[in-house]
Amino acid sequence: MRVTPQGLYCIPGDFFIDPARPVPMAVITHGHSDHARPDHGRVLASAETLAVMRIRMGADRAGRQQQVVAMGEVVTHNGVQIRLVPAGHVLGSCQVVLDWQGSRIVISGDYKRRRDPTCALFEPVPCDVFVTEATFGLPVFRHPDAGAEIGRLLESLRLFPERTHLVGAYALGKAQRVIALLREAGWDRPIYLHGALLALCELYESLGVKLGPLAPVPVPAKRGGGGLLAGEVVLAPPSAEATAWVRRLAEPVICAASGWMRVRQRAKAKGVELPLIISDHADWDELLDTVAEVQAPEVWVTHGRDDALVHALALRGIRGRALHLLGRGDEEEDQAPAEVVAEATA
Ligand SMILES: [Zn+2]
Ligand SMILES: [Zn+2]
Repeated sequence: MRVTPQGLYCIPGDFFIDPARPVPMAVITHGHSDHARPDHGRVLASAETLAVMRIRMGADRAGRQQQVVAMGEVVTHNGVQIRLVPAGHVLGSCQVVLDWQGSRIVISGDYKRRRDPTCALFEPVPCDVFVTEATFGLPVFRHPDAGAEIGRLLESLRLFPERTHLVGAYALGKAQRVIALLREAGWDRPIYLHGALLALCELYESLGVKLGPLAPVPVPAKRGGGGLLAGEVVLAPPSAEATAWVRRLAEPVICAASGWMRVRQRAKAKGVELPLIISDHADWDELLDTVAEVQAPEVWVTHGRDDALVHALALRGIRGRALHLLGRGDEEEDQAPAEVVAEATA
């Protein structure tokens, strides 16, 4: 295994994992845009990840040859055995398990350990080298229970029935998880979606993830009209919360579902009134527990707060190595703005 500018390269197998640029052969862990890029030659991934890639980049750019690998199926390529195992991050997300000449490396991709009604639970696989992310790799990051966070949203809906609750949530994974958690908590009213979330919610439904009644946010009857959807839940990508689009809603309570909402300064800077700490990445304890479970003597950290994690690993007698992969964290929660990190470390 070698670290190249394009990403992790398996030398004997002659293929890349989540490469940042087009390559002849790639194994893709999941559909977020910092892992799944367009225009590879041959793409190996789960059926769900390939479906996400086709929706986001168009069928013709999701790989000239698209090969579905079922969970647990072994594909042998140039003597390297390739296997996909659930990573618990978003629908279809996988760890890549590579076996070659008696040694095993597991590339986790992004992952979390909490139960998520919209995807399969992470499965720890014992290995010689474990490649992990560290998006929330600082001891201050300990995610609360997601169900309790949804409880705070429902409480606010009871307190402010005359206002729309607008929840900023990323289009792949977070939006669907928030919807599924609301359903589990008994919210059975239609949930209204910004247009940017519709296609992926439909895909989740078509792949068997039940989301209940969903509807697009209506267009006001008059130009500049407002006051729509009082007492309802609206989901939108976080970027939409700052646009004129929100003026159609009834005095919206701006909410955001992200692990970064743990950092109060971040929530305030974004104008978030009700921060919901719901993350699709492992928190500090989950990172350390996972490393202990896979029993790898060597751990490589792809992106995130690698210094703190590498230090903590050394104290446990584990060799840690920061890879500083380029182009990671460009999408979704992976992104750690400088001011967030500064506050979290203070
Ligand atoms: Zn991701
Ligand atoms: Zn990522």
